[in-house]
This record gives sequence, structure tokens and C-alpha cells, in this order.
Amino acid sequence: DADPTAATNTDTDTGTETAAEGGVTTLDHWIDGALVEGESSRTSPVYDPAKGAVQKHVRMASAADVDAAVAAASAALPAWADTSLARRQAVMFAFRELLNARSGELAEILTSEHGKVLSDAAGEIARGLEVVEFACGIAQLVKGDYSENASTGVDVYTLRQPVGVVGIISPFNFPAMVPLWFFPIAIACGNTVVLKPSEKDPSAANWMAALLKEAGLPDGVFNVVHGDKEAVDAVLEHPGISSISFVGSTPIAQYIYETASRNGKRVQALGGAKNHMLVLPDADLDLVADSAVNAGFGSAGERCMAISVVLASESIADELVAKVKERMAGLRTGDGRRACDMGPLITKVHRDKVAGYIDIAATDGATVVVDGRDGEFDGDADGFWLGPTLIDNVPTTSAVYTDEIFGPVLSVVRVSGYEEGLDIINRGRYGNGTAIFTNDGGAARRFQREVQVGMVGVNVPIPVPVAYHSFGGWKSSLFGDAKAYGPAGVAFFTREKAITSRWLDPSHGGINLGFPQHT
Ligand code: NAD
Repeated sequence: DADPTAATNTDTDTGTETAAEGGVTTLDHWIDGALVEGESSRTSPVYDPAKGAVQKHVRMASAADVDAAVAAASAALPAWADTSLARRQAVMFAFRELLNARSGELAEILTSEHGKVLSDAAGEIARGLEVVEFACGIAQLVKGDYSENASTGVDVYTLRQPVGVVGIISPFNFPAMVPLWFFPIAIACGNTVVLKPSEKDPSAANWMAALLKEAGLPDGVFNVVHGDKEAVDAVLEHPGISSISFVGSTPIAQYIYETASRNGKRVQALGGAKNHMLVLPDADLDLVADSAVNAGFGSAGERCMAISVVLASESIADELVAKVKERMAGLRTGDGRRACDMGPLITKVHRDKVAGYIDIAATDGATVVVDGRDGEFDGDADGFWLGPTLIDNVPTTSAVYTDEIFGPVLSVVRVSGYEEGLDIINRGRYGNGTAIFTNDGGAARRFQREVQVGMVGVNVPIPVPVAYHSFGGWKSSLFGDAKAYGPAGVAFFTREKAITSRWLDPSHGGINLGFPQHT
């Protein structure tokens, strides 16, 4: 395979489209509280995946454009870091109210550029809102500790201060929620932000930037630069940026982690996934079938916490596959604005890649139970359609099993029981999410102790932690040691300072070159 971190986006135009050309608009950067064209003339097309057509272009930042954003964020930093906790919280509360009231607008943007159905877009925003609500309580979260009289007359206490200008680089699959995992906490902690969203669905970032301004956030605290590898590399190398929060595929996450660390930055880099659901024979198979369908095909499988593999105990596998198949027959795939269950994939290239796994499955001896290429789609003929696909008897040596497919393809691997299922999960390269379905509390308890995965569901298929816990996987699903949001987010976006203080007293004099000891 070619080095995925070496390539720039092959979709990129080199044209100089303007807002006037062909009625197609071009999305600008957002720097210092205003839209900015920047100096680069490169753009990239943004599709409406349900129509299969370019709906706008987005500017691709150069290093100079990134520099302008960092300059704005650096200039805004001293005043924002000095702004009282009460005032920062007030801005977060105002942002929360606006986002809640106008989430319908944002959902439409998400559906038109990502393709996910409107109800799912609303769900994405709701999960992002949770983090905003968490950040509304920042005063409580950044409180330090105080130890009075640690030594005689000496007090020791800790403070949490902002890290500086923080960089956020986000993936296409949650254009609102993933930035919301980071920037509310970063901003509430007193940092300023440069966000580089996915170039595939960039408009949500600008919409949220304008909303933050409306909520009273000073200009320059939140900036958006659009772009691809060129912009990302400029962010990773910029000496004015103190930390990097990244979410995306594993090869890029590793590249980000290594490059940003080499440049002296604090890094959290969340990568790809391949999530298993282990079904024990005593599980409620109707609940399991509902859960597998929801978690496998929601957002067309383009979720890092999607279930991609059902590990079915042999004794119930036939019955379970029949129940999943029956439910799939009722799913409607189509334009996300038409109350369908499932939308299109993000690009034609990705759609074709995902569909290719159905051929690989057949070649590798698996059983294609439902072929999503055969579906009927409620949308434009040029949309990037692939229906829900179910593949049984998938060998764990097949690329269908080993690759992160990131599409509506659910694989079934048959196992003898708990031990074999656990072993398969723990041998996996990724460790993002997993779930066990059983009515046996002892088995569930063993699973939560023994499984080598960062987020575990017990009869819950998509165990995304609530905002006041933290989100992150293990192994190749997370580089660095900092999970996203919750307490880990507050720790990531602050630097702790420990102060040892003694107020003058004549008895404190005298010379002693030994290491200080407590008295
Ligand atoms: P991606 O890795 O292609 O892109 C993510 C970001 O990196 C984008 O902003 C993109 O512009 C940038 N980028 C892409 N190629 C680059 C390069 N060569 N150099 C520097 N930057 C580059 O990921 P994607 O396709 O947008 O998103 C899907 C992936 O994200 C899946 O693998 C999914 O599992 C993962 N994901 C993980 C989580 C998680 O929490 N672990 C959450 C959501 C998505």
C-alpha cells in the first residue's frame, strides 16, 4: 500500500473558483471573527452525496493561511486567558442556548454535505451539546487543590491554566460532534483555537464559528482553516500551536501523533476502529438483532463506534442471522431529507471501495446474505448509494474482517462461545468499542475486566460515554494517553501548576543547602 500520509487530497481542484462562477459558492476560512479568502487559490469540491453533485467548493489553506489563523489566535490569547471564569461560562451558556434553539439549521447542513439522515444529524448535535453543557460547568472543573500547612507555615496548592493556542483536526463522519468534543472545553479553559475540519463537509465548522461570535465569544478565540495535508502539516509544525487534538483514520492518527510530538506539542490522536459485538447463547435475540441493525447501519456505518462484526455463538447464529435479515428488509435507504433510515456514503470513491468488499467476501468463502448493491434507493440516481449488507461466515483472515470498512457492511463471525469470542476481540489491532450481549451478569463482569478495548457496552451496542466521562479507545484506536472530553479533556486543555508558599516570618532565615525536608 502507498503511504497514506504522503498523499495530498487527490480530489483537490487547482482552480480559482469564486462565488460567482457557475452559481457554485466557495467556502472561506474563518479567521479573527470574519470570513477570509486567504492567499491560496486551491479549492476542493464539496458534494451533496444524495445527489452525487458538487454543491460548493472549499478553500484549501496554505501555510501562510494557517499562519494568519495562528496569529489571530495568539493575539486573542492573553485577554481570553485572563477573562474570568464567570464570563467564559456565560459565553458557553449563551452558545448552548443558541445551538439548542437552532440545531435544525445545523442538522440540514450536516445532511446536505455528509448524507446522514436528518434524525441522525440531530443526534450528532445532541451528543455535541452534552459537551457544551459540561463546559458550562468549567469553574467547578478547573478548581485546584489546596494543602494547608504541608510543612510548618508552608501551604501547597495547584492551579490549572490554559495551554495556549490549540489545534483541532477533525474527520468527515461527525462534522459537528467531533469538533464539539474539543473546542467547548478548550475555550472554557481559556485557550484559543484553530480548527481544521474535514474538507469533505466543512460548512458546519463555519456555522458554529458564527454562532460562537453571536454568543459573545471575542474575535480570534475560535478560528477555522479549511484544507488538506498542506494545512495540517502547517498546523503540526507551527511553533505558535501548543497542542493537537486529532480524530480520523489510524495511519493519519499515527502520523499526527509522531509529527506533533516531534514538534514538542501535547497530542491526543484518536484513530480508526473495528468494533465487535459478542453474543452469548442466553442473550435476548430480538434485542440483539435490533441493536446490530441500529449499530451496524446507522449513519451508513460511517461511525467509529459502529458495530462491524457480530461474534455469534454457534448455537444461536442461524436464528440471529435470520432476525437481522428480516429487520434489514424494512430499512429504507435514500436521501436523508426524506425520512429514510439510512443515507448515502460520503463520496463515490468511498462507496465503490466499500462495495468492493462484497466481492472480496464472496472470493474469501463468506456467505453474502444481503447484498446492498441490489437495493432500491429513494434519491437521485447519481447519489453515492449502497444498501445495508450482511455477510455471514466471514473468515477472520479475510480483508472483510481485518480492514475498517467504514460502510453499511455487517459481518458475522461464528464462535464456539465466550472464550473464542474474547480471544478474537483481544487479538484485534483496534480497541475502540465493543459490546457483549448476555443475561449472565457474571459473564458480562468477566468481559468488562478481560477485554482489551477502551469503551465497553453491556447490552449497549454503541457505548459512547456521556460528556462527563471521557471518550477514547486503546491500541491503534488512540495515540497518546489523553482521551477526549470529560475529565481527560479538562486535563488535556490545561497545564497544572503547583505552588509552594510561605509567608515571611523571622524564624525562616538561616542557611541550609540540603534538599528541603518537612518540619
Ligand atoms: P482521515 O484520517 O482521512 O481524515 C481526518 C483528518 O485528517 C481530516 O481533517 C483530513 O483532512 C486530514 N488528513 C487526511 N489525510 C491527511 C494526510 N495525509 N496528512 C495530514 N492530514 C490528513 O479520516 P476521515 O476519512 O475523515 O474519517 C474517518 C476515519 O476517522 C475512520 O477511520 C474512523 O474510524 C475515524 N474516526 C475515529 C473516531 C474515534 O473517536 N476514534 C471518531 C470518528 C472517526
